[in-house]
Amino acid sequence: MGPAPLFPLKLNRIPMNTPSSRQQRSDELLTSLVRIHSVNPMGKDYPHTEPVERKVIEHIEQLFAPHASSVTRRRLPSSPIHESLVLTLPGRADRRAALFESHMDTVPACGWQDRAFHPVVQSGELIGLGSSDDKASLAAMVLALLEIVEESISPPRTIVLVCAADEEYAQTGIREFLRTTDKQFAYGIFGEPTQLNPVPQHKGIARWDITVHGRSAHSGCPELGVNAISGMVEVIRALQRRQEKLQSRPTCSLTSATTITVTKIAGGQTRNAIPEQCAIAVDVRVSPGMDSAAERETIMDELSALPWNISHSEPQLLSPPLNTDPQSSFSRDVLSICQQTIGNHAHLQGMPYGTDAAWTAGLFPSIVLGPGDIRLAHAIDERIALTEVRQAIAIYKQIMLHPFAEYIEPNRFGSDGRT
Ligand SMILES: [Zn+2]
Repeated sequence: MGPAPLFPLKLNRIPMNTPSSRQQRSDELLTSLVRIHSVNPMGKDYPHTEPVERKVIEHIEQLFAPHASSVTRRRLPSSPIHESLVLTLPGRADRRAALFESHMDTVPACGWQDRAFHPVVQSGELIGLGSSDDKASLAAMVLALLEIVEESISPPRTIVLVCAADEEYAQTGIREFLRTTDKQFAYGIFGEPTQLNPVPQHKGIARWDITVHGRSAHSGCPELGVNAISGMVEVIRALQRRQEKLQSRPTCSLTSATTITVTKIAGGQTRNAIPEQCAIAVDVRVSPGMDSAAERETIMDELSALPWNISHSEPQLLSPPLNTDPQSSFSRDVLSICQQTIGNHAHLQGMPYGTDAAWTAGLFPSIVLGPGDIRLAHAIDERIALTEVRQAIAIYKQIMLHPFAEYIEPNRFGSDGRT
């Protein structure tokens, strides 16, 4: 089937949220969001003065402009080039607020032709950069909140929707948001592609560079130098031994064991000299129940026993695992809402990758949940089934309107909001 015509950019405000109006508006909003360039420079030079996410923010603000008296809007800069948008709809004041979060930035459009920002619809799927990661979740959360506002429903607790910046690189958006709030949330729902299966647990991340320092010499007289590449071979073997040890331990039921992966290597300067330096980038995916920073320390300690001069960079990223109890009433109720909407095949699952939800670990229970398939994210021709986006709106809306009050309020069942 060839590409269908694009939806018009104009967003009509439709007062009644019938299934067909939800479909039209959801398709239009997602199309508009994919068209907006919000590529994260991923630590590289960014030549513009406007924050990466500004155009997305303006688009969402426009949707809520007619509801300024009920929904407050706050722009939240998190770095010179990143900015989040926080929308708040007040609910019952005696209950903790609910946090919903999706991110606005995308990875770079590497290898895409021009259709990265010119989405097409084929066989009911919208193809475009960021279509599933993460603009489908973003559109669905925005529209779920908008429907509640338009229907004049008073939510059982305050709903805070964070349209977050910079998730793909340094996660400054969620971190700045948490830094500037009292963190007293009942729970968090983080929109990322999970095929609408709730994810209460995912791995944490520790990423940094390891360098072996040697001494250069003429390669005709290698005994006069210290070969940094030979040292790095031993470092990599030690990392493999550490990984084997971690994998032999019992791990959490929803994710695989901790992995340690060397993702980059550089060493040596010329073909006829002993290399005086060799560096690797290491990416450690830490299982729920473990501590990312502590695992990094352990690895550094073990490497210090090797007879080589080794140095470590500061972490490029250090984020904790998400470890919400899958057996809790909160996890089970969210699962039940998903099953009611998409069918009994919905199930709790774990993920090997990190999300912004990690930053709430230990503060309040959080679940990652959104439309789309992570295996298609960060790839050419990323796509999303439009029906899944509409199902996500229904699921988010039900969660937003669910009180969860009988077990999640800290005053009733302990102080951390968990069962
Ligand atoms: Zn994402």
